[in-house]
Amino acid sequence: MTKNQSSMMERPLLISSILEHGAAQHATQEVVSRETHGTTVRHTYAQIARRVRKLANALRTLGLKEGDAVASIAWNNHRHLEAYYAVSGSGMVMHTCNPRLHPTQLAYILNHAEDQMVLFDSTFAPLVAAIAPQCPHVKHWVCLSDDEHLPSGQGSPTVVSYESLIATQADTFEWPEFDERTGAALCYTSGTTGNPKGVLYSHRAIVLNATTSGLPDVLGLSTREAILPVVPMFHINAWCIPYSAMLAGTKLVLPGPRLDGASLHELMESERVTISAGVPTIWMGLLQHVEQAGLRFTTMRRTCVGGSAMPRALIEKFNDVYGVEVRHGWGMTETTAIATLSNLSASDWELPAEQRHAIVARQGKVTSGIEIKVVDESGATLPRDGTSQGELMVRGHWIVERYYKAEETALVNGWFPTGDIATIDADGTMTIRDRTKDVIKSGGEWISSIDLENAVVAHPGVAMAAVIGIKHPKWDERPLLLVVRKPGQDFGKNEVLEFLSDRVAKWWMPEDVVFLETLPVGGTGKVQKNELRKQYGGLFTEALP
Ligand code: AMP
Repeated sequence: MTKNQSSMMERPLLISSILEHGAAQHATQEVVSRETHGTTVRHTYAQIARRVRKLANALRTLGLKEGDAVASIAWNNHRHLEAYYAVSGSGMVMHTCNPRLHPTQLAYILNHAEDQMVLFDSTFAPLVAAIAPQCPHVKHWVCLSDDEHLPSGQGSPTVVSYESLIATQADTFEWPEFDERTGAALCYTSGTTGNPKGVLYSHRAIVLNATTSGLPDVLGLSTREAILPVVPMFHINAWCIPYSAMLAGTKLVLPGPRLDGASLHELMESERVTISAGVPTIWMGLLQHVEQAGLRFTTMRRTCVGGSAMPRALIEKFNDVYGVEVRHGWGMTETTAIATLSNLSASDWELPAEQRHAIVARQGKVTSGIEIKVVDESGATLPRDGTSQGELMVRGHWIVERYYKAEETALVNGWFPTGDIATIDADGTMTIRDRTKDVIKSGGEWISSIDLENAVVAHPGVAMAAVIGIKHPKWDERPLLLVVRKPGQDFGKNEVLEFLSDRVAKWWMPEDVVFLETLPVGGTGKVQKNELRKQYGGLFTEALP
């Protein structure tokens, strides 16, 4: 043996090993799940594992083989979790689909992925009926329910229930061993421009992420915690929480379809949830409910937020009013899960609240396994000085290299260009300033739509706000502010502008303010600015001769 040959054995990093570890070491830990039709069901890890193995046998009985793709159109629930493990563990590809994609795009991705089977929640039965005729590859449509809750409907494809599929199967299964670089899960980008692009996550990427994302300064998982991922399992693997929780032996609470403030708060309290994870729009709804009903969080200590920028006002409220620590993460479909996280260090905790909140409002430092840099338009690396802003580039163990079925790499000199504009401080803290397509170019200078939105939602009467840049005859683009007022509030444009006047630079002031009942929010909880741009894009030019 030479010196550079280690003495270690090599075992592939496979998702099936997470399941079997969880089942063997944390057999009695619970998975609590809200069914689509309302009831709450609980299983131990050991019971979940037995159901997973039954599903793996069912897939094999139906003739599915390694490399085949199985799609899900589903909420966060235990059957979806079982599919995660059974499909990937069998060497097949778990393709999670965003139900809010336009039906044409949904059919496109089912065809592009060549899915053989679709597992869907009864909620999405009408959607399935609409797209089935366009998806000839799909041989099996399975409703994630028992026979009693099977949807009925004209024009639906032949559907079997998940429970009937697994009922007679054995609960033992010999998991195959294969290369850890094999594709395990597939997720498509939201496709706001052009067709969605697929990211095929490997077993290796997922297992490595699950191993590190449970660390104390990331999600902070252990057998003593109970985590409620509101982040959807149909998008970026719910930040790999379904894997990291089972790896760490953490109680997993899956909320099903009801994500309103009252339902979430009730579940958090009844299941003694200690950690939650979700996008800011969900937390706005939760806080509004808790405030209106005069409630508290008795067990929840921490919430991890990402997907879009977490407004400073919400960070303050969670921390100062409700005693819930906020960790603010950044990631994208192409990064498998969270890639950076703002987490306060021991010395940060000594700072006054205001300074602590300012740290958390940024997107934070990379998790281990990830590197970031910002570059200018020529690709040159910019200094880490907190002010030089450029495109954020990322690389690491769970970052995409090329899109599914693409011939060409997505990388530029070994780094993935994120399309986000960011700055990095000397200590490595990253701040997202905007998306390249959302940043507002006014008179040759850049206005951050995120910073403006954050300033607006600090107004106590504002429920939600979005800022878009729209064509302007003199300045190229100017910001338009769209506001949703909280119920019972009735203030106007002047009050909003007055409120902003000592919070943002004069030339950042919105050119106009439009009040709306709601903002268009996509399936992943982000405001769909492209929809707003379509509707309001001509506002400053239309009136011109
Ligand atoms: P998606 O792939 O659909 O999840 O979108 C990823 C994009 O969401 C990123 O490229 C960012 O533009 C945005 N995003 C995610 N997390 C944050 C965050 N904490 N703050 C600001 N933007 C975010």
